[in-house]
Amino acid sequence: MIVIMNPDATCREVKNVVDAIENVGMEAKIMEGSKQKIVGLIGDKSNINSLSLEALPGVDHTVPISKSYKLASREFHPQSSIVNIGGIKIGRGNFVIMAGPCAVESLEQLLESAKIAKAGGAQFLRGGAYKPRTSPYSFQGLKNEGLKYLAEARNQTGLKVITEVTEVEAVETISKYADMLQVGARNMQNFRLLKEVGQTNMPVLLKRGLSATLEEWLNAAEYIMKEGNNNVVLCERGIRTYETYTRNTLDMSAVAAIKHLSHLPIIVDPSHGTGKWRMVKPMSFAAVAAGADGLMIEMHPDPAKALSDGQQSLTPENYLEVTKGVYKIANFMKQEKLTITQL
Ligand code: PEP
Ligand code: MN
Repeated sequence: MIVIMNPDATCREVKNVVDAIENVGMEAKIMEGSKQKIVGLIGDKSNINSLSLEALPGVDHTVPISKSYKLASREFHPQSSIVNIGGIKIGRGNFVIMAGPCAVESLEQLLESAKIAKAGGAQFLRGGAYKPRTSPYSFQGLKNEGLKYLAEARNQTGLKVITEVTEVEAVETISKYADMLQVGARNMQNFRLLKEVGQTNMPVLLKRGLSATLEEWLNAAEYIMKEGNNNVVLCERGIRTYETYTRNTLDMSAVAAIKHLSHLPIIVDPSHGTGKWRMVKPMSFAAVAAGADGLMIEMHPDPAKALSDGQQSLTPENYLEVTKGVYKIANFMKQEKLTITQL
């Protein structure tokens, strides 16, 4: 349930509402609506009926929220959120590109990738140091050595660094090197990991699980936010369907649906979403037009020699061509005020 206060409600009246909620063992979260304050109730609903919140001074009305996730829901937070990563904003018209290799392979490979990523207008360098691989025999990542290379690439280019965290034990170390933590598709329902990243104040990119519904995905975001970390950005990266031509089926409708259901920013990863480098360009363009707040694109200085996901990685030339088009579409959307924030 959320409590909508009168636009002229006093601080004391808001505090009274918060006290009443806390007295029955629930948690109260105050949010700024466009005109008035909103107080959200979280926790055990069993005592909710004893609360006559609408009778309290300063309360305009209450709205029940039937969804299993609250903090991530649009009802709870009507305005689209902006996540700020060291000065780079994502959401509410702030568009970003995250680009780089699937995996950090060497310092040379990463620095080369970072230069190209930046030349194409990316704000973030991506690269996995801890790699979740389908086969245990595949390259598993350079781990801490890779983190050092990422930090070096950041020093040299000024790009923000995003890298995946695959296990609870690595959260602390990775947080020292990265600007944003990535929770990958395979870990979307690793609840211990979600809670752990929720207890940091690091921005988190939460990828959609391989077969997750939107509700499961938003509940995963809720796990992070419930711990106090609201800096969550969602990433649609395709889901498993009966189609085998593509690696995954990129669910572009998820962008529009998430904009309706949630206030969180959402970006699209057309590389994992299709598994085919040739499809990255059209799907990137489509994602921007669909209202995505950004893109995550795999690019490698020499995809044929990549230790992972070479088949879906763009060459530097193709990457530069794709991002040029992406920014044209993003600017057009902005100029024409076509930015899709809420349906
Ligand atoms: C990745 O970004 O390299 C990755 C492993 O992605 P996903 O979790 O979406 O498969
Ligand atoms: Mn990859």
